[in-house]
Amino acid sequence: MSDDASTLAQWIDGSHDIVFFGGAGVSTESGIPDFRGAKGFYHQEREIPLERVLSIDFFSACPGAYYAWFAEQTAREGVAPNAAHRFLAGLERAGKLKAVVTQNIDGLHQAAGSKRVLELHGNWTRLECTGCGARSTIDDFDEARAGRVPHCPSCSAVVRPDIVFYGEALDPATLEGAVLAIAGADMLIVGGTSLAVYPAAGLIDYYQGGRRVLMNATPTPYDGRADLIIREPIGRVFAQIQGHV
Ligand code: NAD
Ligand code: ZN
Repeated sequence: MSDDASTLAQWIDGSHDIVFFGGAGVSTESGIPDFRGAKGFYHQEREIPLERVLSIDFFSACPGAYYAWFAEQTAREGVAPNAAHRFLAGLERAGKLKAVVTQNIDGLHQAAGSKRVLELHGNWTRLECTGCGARSTIDDFDEARAGRVPHCPSCSAVVRPDIVFYGEALDPATLEGAVLAIAGADMLIVGGTSLAVYPAAGLIDYYQGGRRVLMNATPTPYDGRADLIIREPIGRVFAQIQGHV
């Protein structure tokens, strides 16, 4: 184990109110590309830029583009929680981690068994009718998995994902929960996020302790304030220290 990984293991050992704050890089080892990492969506040639597809104005006019993208993401074989998701769920079960705050919309933390997951940008498996507000899940609409726009069986309006599109506000209760968890944490692990999306990225400023760990493959604006920086893939590092904490 590297010195940095063993410092991480020691700090986890000595903490009992850990908060993990993560982003798309947590799920790249599960096969879902991130946006700004080396193989991210933003480096791919696309007919319509993804920032537009994921904006509320564009979705309102052309929901098909979102569902085509969603189907592409979820059709990949073997998308499942990886060692990072499993390690964090285990820390929570052991009573050491009090919340995962995530910018991800893929639901993989819950699939790994995490209970307290604050999803800042929502979750693409939950759906809501834009007409009558009826709630459903992706499993209720085969056409959504196939990349076609689902329509409400009661009112025929377009059904939308319960995600925060660009141009929409974050849920105030989720934000407040994240602020409280981070402000009261005795260790903050920030992982797999470029810290470029606001207001989410600003939440880590609420941490007041001295165990600020940054696990990210590439530099971020937060590097100067981190107490420990690890550049190795998150899942691999957590798999290494599993059993040592
Ligand atoms: P981002 O793409 O901007 O940044 C991801 C960062 O993670 C990059 O800096 C990259 O170098 C790093 N990284 C990638 N794989 C890593 C690994 N295995 N170990 C360590 N570091 C790794 O992602 P973001 O900051 O989360 O912002 C993108 C926005 O897009 C978020 O708001 C999120 O909602 C959304 N998004 C979600 C998913 C998902 O749910 N899986 C996927 C893509 C984007
Ligand atoms: Zn409806």
